[in-house]
Amino acid sequence: MTIRFTKLTPRRASALAIATTLARGTNSLRVAVLGSGIAGSTAARTLADRGAEVTVFEAGFGIGGRTSTRITRDEFRYQFDHGAQYIGSPKTEAFRNALDGWRSDGSAKEWTGRFRTARGLELEEDETKDRFVGYPAMHSICRNMLHHENIKVKLRSRANASPHEIEGWELAHDRTKEPLGTFDWLIVSDRNSAALHREDLTAANVEEFASKTRHIESVKSLAAMVVFEKPLGLGIDAVQFDGKDPKYGALGWAARDSSKPGRERKMDEKECWVLQSHPEAAMKILRDRTNLDEIREIAKDVLVNDFLNSIPFLIASGNEDIKIPPVVAAIGHRWSAAFPIPSEDFSQRDCQIMASKKFVACGDYFGKLPGRVEGAYLSGVSAANQLLFHEI
Ligand SMILES: Cc1cc2nc3c(=O)[nH]c(=O)nc-3n(C[C@H](O)[C@H](O)[C@H](O)COP(=O)(O)OP(=O)(O)OC[C@H]3O[C@@H](n4cnc5c(N)ncnc54)[C@H](O)[C@@H]3O)c2cc1C
Repeated sequence: MTIRFTKLTPRRASALAIATTLARGTNSLRVAVLGSGIAGSTAARTLADRGAEVTVFEAGFGIGGRTSTRITRDEFRYQFDHGAQYIGSPKTEAFRNALDGWRSDGSAKEWTGRFRTARGLELEEDETKDRFVGYPAMHSICRNMLHHENIKVKLRSRANASPHEIEGWELAHDRTKEPLGTFDWLIVSDRNSAALHREDLTAANVEEFASKTRHIESVKSLAAMVVFEKPLGLGIDAVQFDGKDPKYGALGWAARDSSKPGRERKMDEKECWVLQSHPEAAMKILRDRTNLDEIREIAKDVLVNDFLNSIPFLIASGNEDIKIPPVVAAIGHRWSAAFPIPSEDFSQRDCQIMASKKFVACGDYFGKLPGRVEGAYLSGVSAANQLLFHEI
């Protein structure tokens, strides 16, 4: 028997694509989402609730992106919110409703504590109301959103996308090149996907969008996660530093992670802290350094030392005679793109859709609240809604 192959012209391909989608029915629209941060998880959940079949690919080891939780792989399982520290008071009705939903399903709780702001060397009470965190860990919000019968999550899967003749998109694993499936739509939730040293979108034929995102600049940040053998007993739970007094060194933020709901270590009473750098200090440390292991070591050493040296200035009155317990573990981390610097091109809209290519981009670099969990959420909702608008 002879099999005749017919050349697939663009018109035939498009007719075949429509026929394939109709045959599957609208409820089985297949969407690939690159990234399991707040934007990607929100888009995935919004679509899954409307009946789409969603596969979320995450390059990292765990869910959450910059709201992920670092858990050590040793027997101690120390846990740290090393990225986003808390969700502040909602600025929009839509996000207030979402946060209320997360609080009522138990994936977020209020973080009440003793907060201070350091202006120069002076410590002031910080009376800001409304700080919310994922419960029992920061990543719980995204984990909970992705826990849905229509959502599959593939961790450690950095995906590269290319257009498929019939199906819309085909994805392949960045490292192994293993095929990851074909999808009707592609949602990309991280602007770094367009970076020149990466191949996520090299073959995707979205160069105009990609080249614009490459102009977005980022604030970098360094973090250190520290475990004390016993509670420090400072009498405060978090301090925001303005970076003006050299006595606080590189510190921009210090938080007693164990004071957040669900993080207290009742089993061994050890205390976990997260220290983050001031942006200018991070810039100085990162200048001329590219070796990641070296950067992590420096981040750890500098931030832990600066914190230990700051303790005499941070102790709340009445707690002066504390003895600093030994540090039993410390880890350094670099966030190479912690916060996007707002850009005109992206602040006017919450996401970008290219309907003819079945491509949507979202993330915290869009909209009026860049670099915030709320901005990422609004962008994810918008991406899903725009996609549905064009599909239905
Ligand atoms: C140190 C720090 C402190 C912060 N503090 C706060 C705070 O207190 N309050 C606040 O509101 N915000 C804070 N933020 C900002 C907040 O975390 C972000 O605005 C928000 O989490 C961004 O979500 P996102 O989904 O847009 O991006 P991300 O969380 O970055 O998610 C993108 C995900 O996509 C994945 N990815 C990328 N490319 C691919 C690919 N090709 N295949 C598969 N996966 C891919 C990445 O691994 C990543 O997980 C902080 C951020 C940092 C770094």
